[in-house]
This record gives sequence, structure tokens and C-alpha cells, in this order.
Amino acid sequence: MSRGQAYLQRLNDERNVWLDGERVRVTEHPAFRGTLQTIESLFNLVDDADTRETVAYWDEQTNGYVHQAFQVPRNAQEISNRAAAFRLWSDRTYGVMSRLSDYARSRLTGWYATRDAMAVYDPAYGGKIATYYDEAKRKDAFLTIVQRDPQINRALPVGEDEDAMLRIIRTNTEGVVLRGAKMVATAAPYADDIIAYPIQRIPGHRPELGHMVIVATGSPGLHMVCRESFATSDSDTAHPLSSQYDEMDAVLFFDDVFVPWERVLLHNNPEAVWQIRCNVASSSLAYHQSVIRLHSKLEFITAITSSIAKEIGVDSFLNVQEQLGEMVSQMHTIEGLIIASEAQATPDVHGNWLPAFKYIETARNLGTRYYPRAVEILKTIAAGGLIQIPSGKLEFEGSISPMMNKYLGGVTMQAPEKIRLFQLAWELTGSPLGARHDLYERFYAGDPVRNRASQYVQYDKDRLYARVEPWLHSKG
Ligand SMILES: Cc1cc2nc3c(=O)[nH]c(=O)nc-3n(C[C@H](O)[C@H](O)[C@H](O)COP(=O)(O)OP(=O)(O)OC[C@H]3O[C@@H](n4cnc5c(N)ncnc54)[C@H](O)[C@@H]3O)c2cc1C
Repeated sequence: MSRGQAYLQRLNDERNVWLDGERVRVTEHPAFRGTLQTIESLFNLVDDADTRETVAYWDEQTNGYVHQAFQVPRNAQEISNRAAAFRLWSDRTYGVMSRLSDYARSRLTGWYATRDAMAVYDPAYGGKIATYYDEAKRKDAFLTIVQRDPQINRALPVGEDEDAMLRIIRTNTEGVVLRGAKMVATAAPYADDIIAYPIQRIPGHRPELGHMVIVATGSPGLHMVCRESFATSDSDTAHPLSSQYDEMDAVLFFDDVFVPWERVLLHNNPEAVWQIRCNVASSSLAYHQSVIRLHSKLEFITAITSSIAKEIGVDSFLNVQEQLGEMVSQMHTIEGLIIASEAQATPDVHGNWLPAFKYIETARNLGTRYYPRAVEILKTIAAGGLIQIPSGKLEFEGSISPMMNKYLGGVTMQAPEKIRLFQLAWELTGSPLGARHDLYERFYAGDPVRNRASQYVQYDKDRLYARVEPWLHSKG
């Protein structure tokens, strides 16, 4: 059985996935078909002789090939190897699929690689995360992460909205029982496990909210409530992205979900959970994947926009060139930051090599503005053409076919090709899938406002103040 098939088979459990008011089986429901086929094919690349050396590495512990996201980089070359694997998966999905589990696997790898530093907070954590890391590698587990509590009343101080927060309500000798909810959990309906912990700092007087748990998606009492599906049938040529790459997002309800102690990585320990949240190794490795994926997507949207500009004959106009140049600058900036992060990688105190976080963080924060701006440029250049796409496939077969060919062609493209180009552009930017992507790029890494502010807050400002200081005193 292939790796991809083994993954699909694991999804045939009793998980509670809700879509359109019904409990559905993800392996049978059409909403998941194309997405799962895509993931299956990506998982199989680990065993494909042509791609294996790029996507995977030989792992001594498990005596087998393992996806690069599980690699703890111990030198600069291993960071480059990880990057090549991320690039391959991203390019195969045009950057449109972002939660293929390589992000969550990278976070896990970072936490595992720095586990010794957590011994002062909880001596049991190191052993638990090492065991789980090993299990996830052996299983080739599809992981996802969820951090946020539901948007009920953000004005309340953390911990004061009882119903909003995922909390431990009982413990026994076997484990803990969780109640509450979490949002947004992309890919959860078809993940093996979900890693959950709070994104915000939990006050010391509410220790029951300070936990980090790994929840099996088939756990009784866990309900994964999907948003509307944007997936279309796999033969739908007008919606090629929705039919293959619709990553499902879900809100999670924990209706007294049992988690065994070995998967309760941290318990009643707000300070330790905060250290996990701020762990640079985990963030550096995970966002390295995110920004490589972003670069792929910026290339894709720039390619579509440039092709449209050429085909409608506007690519020689200065204003259009200026906007396309902005898109090219976006790509180069993100690419440059990725290169800089890898060139300036250094070992941490544990001997793990990490991409320089300041460049990764900058790329991630710029991305929240770059992608929406790229969408704006595409729409500005494609203009009315985006809404002039014929609705059906039969127009070319009926009496209006000659007019279709005469009026809907482009500078070099025949009408059918040009229509497909515009369909692609509309799907990426104007369809429900497109709207979701705009939102995703703004928010996937947390609140962009606070992320950018945090970059300033963390910056060593004394260096800056020192640059001004000499100008503040008269020389007389
Ligand atoms: C498509 C999509 C997929 C996602 N997938 C995942 C995933 O797989 N895993 C995951 O963990 N997360 C995921 N995220 C969720 C992401 O973590 C959150 O959306 C993000 O952290 C922002 O939180 P929020 O949506 O609750 O917004 P809120 O925090 O509710 O913010 C709403 C608005 O209020 C402002 N605001 C709120 N509180 C404050 C405050 N205290 N001070 C100042 N301003 C404030 C914000 O700036 C924002 O403008 C995803 C998000 C999207 C859109």
C-alpha cells in the first residue's frame, strides 16, 4: 500500500465531520475528493524515485525515508534540503495549498529539537514530545495546529469568557477531559492529529487554561464543523483550483474529549505554554515553509496577471508595467528574504541550525500585505474581462461558436485558451475560494496588526536610539 493510500485509510474512522448540517465521511464525500487526491499524490512523492531525495531524507531512527519537515537541521545544507522539499510541494500546488502538514510538522520538529530547554518548566515534556515526534514520523502523520478560541467577546480579559476557551474540566489517572472550542483549524477534518494550545498569554490564576495537547481527530466528542465547501467536481475545467486544492477550514467543538496523559504535553502550566508559543526554533522552521509557499503563490498570481496583460494587449502601457513591476518586486523581496534567512542561518544553543528568524518574520509580515495587493493588481489589469467569461462549456458547440472564436480570443491566444486563463484568474481572486485565500494570507499567522507591532516591540531599539544620540548635543 502506498503512503498516500495508508493516509486515506486512516481517515476511515469514526471522526465527527459536519458539512451542510450532516455528519459526513471525508473519504466518500465529493467536497473532499479532489483535495484528498492531491494530498495522496504529494505523500506518494516520498516513495517516488524521482522525487524522494528532494522531498525526504533517510532517517536513522526509523530506518526509512521521512518527509524533510521532520528533519532537525544540524547544518546549513540541511536547511537547504528542507527548503527544496517545501518548494516542491508548494510548486506542485502553486502555493494554493498551505496546510499540507509540512507547517505543523515543522513546528513539532522545532519543539522537539529544543525540548531540553523546557525541562525547567515541566520535566515530563521532553519525553512526551520525543515519543510523539517519533510516532508522527513513523506514521507520516498529517498534522494541523489550532490556537485561537472562538470569537465570542474579544473585549473580555483572557480567561474571563468561560465558554470561549478550551479548558481541562477533569483529570483522572488515564488523562484529561477537554471542553470548549477552537478556531480556525484548517485541514483538521482530514488530519490524523491536531496540536492545540492557546495563542494568547494565559494568566497565572487560570492554570486550567494553560495546556498543550495532541488530539486524535477520531476522538469521541470532537466535532469538526466545516465551512461551506468550495470544491467542485474533478472534471470541472472551469474551476481547476477548487476541484483540487480546497483546503477545508473548520471550527472545533470539544464536547468532553478525552486525551491520554502521554498526549497532554503541558498541563496547568501557563508559563510553559507561553514558552511554546514564543519558541523561535518552532516558528523559524514553520514560517520558513510558509514563506517558501507564499513565494510560489506570488509567482503564480504574477504569471497569471502577466499573461492576461499580454493577451489583452495592455502590457506595453507604462501604468500596467509599473504594476506588474510591483508584483515582480514582491516576488524578489520574498525570495531575497528567504535567501538571506538561509545564508544567515546559525546554530542555536542546542546545535540546531535555524533560518534567521528576523528575515523569515519580515517575509511573513510583508506577505499579509503583498498578497492582497497582488490580487488588487490582477483585478485592476484584467478589469471587465474577469466578468466576461461565458458560463457554460457548450457555447463553442452551438450556433454562436463562430462568434465565440471571433470575439473572445486574445493577442495570441484562441478563445478557448484565453477563456481558461481568465477562469483561472477569476477562481484565484474572485471566487469563494479566492476570497478565502485573500483572508488566509492576511490572518493565517495571527493578527497582522499585532504581528507587525511585535516586530517593533522585540527590536533592539537601543541601537536605533544610539544613532540619533550624537545629534542631540551641541558641539560647542
Ligand atoms: C482562512 C484562515 C485559515 C486559518 N487557519 C488556521 C489554522 O489552521 N490554525 C490556526 O491556529 N489558526 C488559523 N487561522 C486563524 C488565525 O490564527 C486567526 O484568524 C488569527 O489569529 C486572528 O484571530 P481572529 O481571527 O480570532 O481575529 P480577532 O483576534 O478576533 O481579531 C478581529 C479584529 O479585532 C482586532 N483585535 C482583536 N483583539 C484585539 C486586541 N486585543 N487589541 C487590538 N486589536 C484587536 C484585530 O486586529 C482584528 O482586526 C486561520 C485564519 C484564516 C482566515
